[in-house]
Amino acid sequence: MDRAERRIVEALTSNPPEVSYNPYAYNEDIELLSFPVAIVLVAALANDYIKRRYALAEARRAYSLFKLENEEKIAEIAGKFGWKIRVINRQIGFIRFSFALHFIDYLKNAIAFHEKEWKLVNRMVHNGEVYLSKHDVARLLQEEVRRYIESKIDLSAEVKIPEEILKYVEKIRQICSEKIKETPLEPIPSGVVNDAFPPCIRELYEAIKSGRHVSHIGRFTLTAFLLNIGMDAESVINLFRSLADFNERITRYQIEHIAGERGSRTKYTSPKCDTLRTHGLCVGSDELCRRVKHPLTYYLRRTRALEKREKARVEE
Ligand code: SF4
Repeated sequence: MDRAERRIVEALTSNPPEVSYNPYAYNEDIELLSFPVAIVLVAALANDYIKRRYALAEARRAYSLFKLENEEKIAEIAGKFGWKIRVINRQIGFIRFSFALHFIDYLKNAIAFHEKEWKLVNRMVHNGEVYLSKHDVARLLQEEVRRYIESKIDLSAEVKIPEEILKYVEKIRQICSEKIKETPLEPIPSGVVNDAFPPCIRELYEAIKSGRHVSHIGRFTLTAFLLNIGMDAESVINLFRSLADFNERITRYQIEHIAGERGSRTKYTSPKCDTLRTHGLCVGSDELCRRVKHPLTYYLRRTRALEKREKARVEE
């Protein structure tokens, strides 16, 4: 667990991001087992920025290690990713090529690089194979590893995390709080999904619908949340009609202001969990609440999980 925690902290705090490798610090069993444990911790942190940064840091570590391996070993590892690759060890002119890689496998990974040297026209290609050095193949493998790790981290998975492990999640969250973005980086899917509302928003939504009094900060939170998940201003105004003190002109002005359609043209985001807690609007967290810091992140994760469940149901 400690090594898994260290891997993530290193990924988030080193620049450029890279997980270190010190064969004297940890034995092989710890190195091997701490990797899947770190994947669980990253998934529990439920943050797209951490996921991408961790995957990149592990991939960079893999790149450093690939460069120490011989050609046969590198070809064997690439084969596990389905690459069609051969060791050629061939000198052409002044250049020594170690590998011939099928151009499809080359393009699949080189597409992420923007330097001119990675364009296919600047490469030696023969019979559909791209001739490459060991360094090039290690770099292409780094990209393959990065995508592989990202695919292993499912942020929408609803898993019950044992208390002991949650302590590590909280510790990482505290150590790296400045690095962890408060709002979701992924785009919010279009269309309002009421079933994905976090408890705090559900409470505010029901209170407004049934005409109960809601504080100013509560109204702001609900409005900003609904606008951010794609509800149009007119529908939000209609929601407020049940309130005894409803005034269409003032409500419209305030909602259009929060939507960024008036004044400074800034679209507001609903407050984060810490702020809502301070104002007594956090009505008691559920399992997912413990893994997020913002109601919009909660909504994003829950929507993804519901979509996945629905897709699985249709496929059955
Ligand atoms: S933890 Fe955050 S998302 Fe969950 S109820 Fe509290 S404020 Fe809302």
